[in-house]
Amino acid sequence: MTILKKAPLKSLAFKSLLLAALPTGVALAIGAAGSITWARPAKPDPAKAIVPGGAAMLKAGKYKDAAAYFKKASENHPGSATLQYYLGMSHIYNSQTAEAELPLSRAVVLTTDNTPVHKQAADMLLKYRRIQPYSCMQKCLRPPKSARWNRKQMPLMIYVSDGKMLPKVFDDALLSKEELNAVGNWAKNPSFVGRLSPSQLYRPEYKSAITDGFKQWQWAINERVIDYRFTADATKADILVFWCNELRGLDGWTYLPLSKAGDVHPAVIMMSLQRAQGPTQPIYKQRISVVAAHELGHALGLEHSPNKEDLMYYGTNHTGIPSNGDRATVRALYSASTDYVFPLTSKQ
Ligand SMILES: [Zn+2]
Repeated sequence: MTILKKAPLKSLAFKSLLLAALPTGVALAIGAAGSITWARPAKPDPAKAIVPGGAAMLKAGKYKDAAAYFKKASENHPGSATLQYYLGMSHIYNSQTAEAELPLSRAVVLTTDNTPVHKQAADMLLKYRRIQPYSCMQKCLRPPKSARWNRKQMPLMIYVSDGKMLPKVFDDALLSKEELNAVGNWAKNPSFVGRLSPSQLYRPEYKSAITDGFKQWQWAINERVIDYRFTADATKADILVFWCNELRGLDGWTYLPLSKAGDVHPAVIMMSLQRAQGPTQPIYKQRISVVAAHELGHALGLEHSPNKEDLMYYGTNHTGIPSNGDRATVRALYSASTDYVFPLTSKQ
């Protein structure tokens, strides 16, 4: 169902749309003579030279031409969130709101929260599609970058250990990039996992709690957005799940293989067994499923959402079920050109 009516659409203030949609650090001024000047370019953006041509078509009411123009431009420069935004807006002007959903969602996913493109695309999606995707720019990186797995190499292979803990030095600690790479390299050795000891707090049913949580992503497999399988072979896994007794009060933590180009490493999900003791023990199995669903989202490249109803909400009180916002975000991320595209360890 579309919620768009033609009348309010035409009343969109066109100039404010243009001004609001520009990338961070760039200001567009349309002078009296129609000349366009760009100030303070943050970095070379192909959209800078391309947008004015399509914007003129939109201004002249040639919405179909503008859509074709921005479609071609975004194919030539798939990493430009600004071009995705304008492609989406061309569809909106054409009253094709369903077609606008994916490009506008990509514009949201590929930008940080504070940028004009992000805010404007998010407003349009809420208004015309009633969805709220969120940024997937990895905040641990400076500047933040987007990341996902190589979709063509899927299925991802996921190894869930039977309560095995990483060497003692990693208990209650967050891994550095070097340590994460070391773990990834060790895991390629067939004897590594066999040498690890299981946690005393671990119970066999916790493994099925993990797989139950991961099944929350079955819809994305059905839609052919992603694909994964479980494997008993840690040496051929793209995502490794290990356990620890304490994790600085956290329930789980996911490390993406954000190593330098050419390196191929698995992602690592650490699950804390801290709540598997004391008064929280009876409800811990259910808790694992909720945490596991959230951590797999991170392992797929999702960042935290500011929206309470989302599985990827940064608070601990999320539902454990992907919302429409989570779904729109995954669809956009896995159809976008991201800064990182992780090769699959299992396909090397
Ligand atoms: Zn999280």
